[in-house]
Amino acid sequence: MDLYVHPEFEIVRNEKKCIACRVCERQCANCAHAFDHASREMESFDEKCVNCHRCVTLCPTKALKIVRNPHDFRANANWSGDTIRELYLQANTGAVLLSSMGNPRPLPNYFDRILLNASQVTNPPIDPLREPMETKVFLGKKNVPIQRENGALVDNLPPQIPLSMPLMFSAMSYGSISYNAHASLARAATELGICYNTGEGGLHQDFYPYGSNTIVQVASGRFGVTSSYLMAGAAVEIKMGQGAKPGIGGHLPGHKNVGEVARTRMTPDGSDAISPAPHHDIYSIEDLRQLVYSLKEATGNTKPIIVKIAAVHNVAAIASGVARSGADIIAIDGFRGGTGAAPTRIRDNVGIPIELALASVDQQLRNEGIRDDVSLIVGGSIRSSADWIKAIALGADCCYIATGALMALGCHLCRSCHTGLCNWGIATQRKDLVRRLNPDIGTRHLVNLVHAWQHELKEIMGGMGINSVEALRGNRLMLRGVGMTTEELRVLGIEHAAHIND
Ligand code: SF4
Ligand code: SF4
Repeated sequence: MDLYVHPEFEIVRNEKKCIACRVCERQCANCAHAFDHASREMESFDEKCVNCHRCVTLCPTKALKIVRNPHDFRANANWSGDTIRELYLQANTGAVLLSSMGNPRPLPNYFDRILLNASQVTNPPIDPLREPMETKVFLGKKNVPIQRENGALVDNLPPQIPLSMPLMFSAMSYGSISYNAHASLARAATELGICYNTGEGGLHQDFYPYGSNTIVQVASGRFGVTSSYLMAGAAVEIKMGQGAKPGIGGHLPGHKNVGEVARTRMTPDGSDAISPAPHHDIYSIEDLRQLVYSLKEATGNTKPIIVKIAAVHNVAAIASGVARSGADIIAIDGFRGGTGAAPTRIRDNVGIPIELALASVDQQLRNEGIRDDVSLIVGGSIRSSADWIKAIALGADCCYIATGALMALGCHLCRSCHTGLCNWGIATQRKDLVRRLNPDIGTRHLVNLVHAWQHELKEIMGGMGINSVEALRGNRLMLRGVGMTTEELRVLGIEHAAHIND
C-alpha cells in the first residue's frame, strides 16, 4: 500500500452560493470538480487541485475558495510538511520530483535590499513629462577601433540589436508554451520595439514575419535549426545553461511534442524531444568559439550572437571566457528563473542569485578591459520596474522577463506547467485549453505591462537626475544596500545605506 500523501490544497465551496452551474467542472483540466447526478450537487477532489484559480476566477457566484490544506504533520523545525510530503511521494514512486516556474524558497532577494537614489536641490530631478528621456539601447559588441576613409567615418560597428528600451521577453519554447502564448509575445514585442525569444523549440512558420523582433535560439538539441531559421531572427542565442536548472538539459515529453510542435522542432511526432545537458561539440571556450563563428558565418555576419549561461559559482570567469569566444552578447540567467519543467531539487538548490552574478561579471569584465566587447542581458525573476532599474544600475545592458510576461498573459503561478494541463492556455498544447488564451488580449496586456514599466523607468531616472539609460547603466552610485553583510555589499559594489555622502 502506498504512503498516504494528503492534498496540498482544499477546495472550499460555499453551498449557499453554489448554483451547480458546472462552470468549475468544465474549466478544470485537472478534474477537481464534478457534478454528482444522484445528489445534483457539486463534488470536489482536493487531491487533483493545483490552485491555479481558474475556477475561483470564473465562478459566477464567487462560491469557491482554494486554501492551503490546514491538515499538516506534527510541527517539526527540521521536517516541514512539504519535505515530508515530497519524501512520501518519492518513496511511493521512486521518481525524481519535477516542478515548474521559479525557485519558491525564501532565500535572500538582493533586489529587495537595494534602494535607489533621487536628486534634491543641487542636482535637480528631471520631469519626464516635459523633458526627453532616452530609453533606446543597442545590444552588441561596441569595442571596435574608429576607422576613417578619406576623412569619413567607416561604419565598422558589428551587428547590434536595436531596442526601444532595455527589456526583452526571455526564451520560452513553442512546446513548453502554447501557440497563442507565442503569438502574444511575438506581436507584443513587435508593437513595443523589443524582442521575444523562440527558446529551443524552433520558429513556427506563422511567426517568421515577426523575425526582426525575434531572437532565435540554438540549444544542444538543435531543434528546428535551419539556415532560414538562423536568418529569420534579429540575433541568434546559443543556450549553454538556464538559471532554473544549471547543468541540466531540456526534455519535452512525447505527449507534448505532437503536431505543429513536433513539425516546428523537426522531430518525429510523439517522440521525446531531449536536449542534452552539454552541447556534445563544446567542451572548452575554443569549442564555443567555433560555434559562435559558425553561426556568424551562417548568418553572413549580420546577426549578433548571444551566449546564454546560468548564474553559477564561477560565473565571472565563465563570462570572461565567453566574451573572448567572440560572442557579442552574454545572457546570464539567475537561480530564481522560471522553467516549464525542472527537477525540483535542482531548481531549488543549484545556482546563485542574479544580482550577485551580474555585479561580479560586470566587474570582472571591467577589470579585464573587455566590458565593451559584449553586452550583458540578465534574467531570472525580474518582477517589477524597480528590479529592472536596479539590474541596469548594477551593470546590465538589458533584462529578460519571462515569468512576469506569462503573468500578464494570465498565469497564476500554480507551478504545474510540467503537467501540460495549464488551465489558462499558456503552458499547454491541448487545443481546448490553448483557445482560452486570446492572443489579442494577451498582446494588449503585455504591451500595457511593458509600457507601465517604461513610464516608471523614466520617472525613476528623472528622479535621479538622469535622462538616458546609458547614464544609468553600471551607475552603482545610484544604489545603496540595507540588511547586507560587508561581503555582499563588496560583491555588489555598492555602499551601505548608512554611507551618506558629505
Ligand atoms: S462555478 Fe461556482 S456556482 Fe458554478 S458549480 Fe462551480 S462552485 Fe458552483
Ligand atoms: S503557466 Fe499555467 S500551469 Fe504554468 S504556472 Fe502559470 S498558470 Fe500554472
